Amino acid sequence: MAGIRSTRTRTSRVGANPPLSGTARDTIRGVTGTLISVAPTGAETPKSKAPALPVTLDELVATAKECEAAGAAVIHVHLRDANDASSLDVGYAKEVVAALHEATDLIVQLSTGGAVTDPEEARLAVLDAQPDAASLTCGTVNFGDDVFLNRPAFIAEMYTRMQERGVVPEFECFEPGHLATVERLVGKYGPPYGGHVHVDLVMGVPGAMPGNAGMVAACVAILPDGATFSATGVGRTTLPVMLAALAHGGHLRVGMEDTLTFAAGEPVRDNAQLVERAATLATLAQRPPLSPRAARELLGI
Ligand SMILES: [Zn+2]
Repeated sequence: MAGIRSTRTRTSRVGANPPLSGTARDTIRGVTGTLISVAPTGAETPKSKAPALPVTLDELVATAKECEAAGAAVIHVHLRDANDASSLDVGYAKEVVAALHEATDLIVQLSTGGAVTDPEEARLAVLDAQPDAASLTCGTVNFGDDVFLNRPAFIAEMYTRMQERGVVPEFECFEPGHLATVERLVGKYGPPYGGHVHVDLVMGVPGAMPGNAGMVAACVAILPDGATFSATGVGRTTLPVMLAALAHGGHLRVGMEDTLTFAAGEPVRDNAQLVERAATLATLAQRPPLSPRAARELLGI
């Protein structure tokens, strides 16, 4: 894939910022701050079941602003159509990316997972919307009553297209074995666009790896050399996973895609509430939230 990275033509809105000094960069890679991603919507929960779920463009933009103010640096976006169904419409995705860039400094990461039933071509086409980053699911996994299919050839195609398009991947791992796929991809096709491997451990999905401190430790032990990681605990695993991730120098993904209950018997108020809690815990851990600019530096965006 050598030479392909130079084909990127999109102008980066962060270009106006002076680069961080070498020391600042080392501090970020040395993990003294916490990258907080918000996953506000997901593909699974209908709006009727969680009225605070942002599904329209206006709702997404309002959520993005609130979450940025609360400490988020990345927004992981799933699209919904006018009927609240999961959508991978490229035209709409472009509109959403532009609106989020206009309204915030957040890194815009589009989901390429879609819903578990979406066809491969539609998932690949999401990259045409030219987001800053996109999720790259690193293996097939049981997902509740469904199977989230990610064939090896499809994963490789998604990875190399991201290299060609200048889209930074977030390697989404639902099982420890998916981390071996990350190593294999980088070994076979070279480093990702941006040059840095950042993994998101998605834990506690029914049918996949559990969300607990021991599992976080097991995954950290087999992370590729030099990689950073975020962790996400679905449902009631959110807090143990968050605390374990912080203890291991990791970063955090929170949001209503994964968590709809804030505490026993208390529904989540909105996405900003989840970001605020993550920011508070990160600050207590002496690793306060990274700004979007510092997060861009960390991820190579
Ligand atoms: Zn997602």
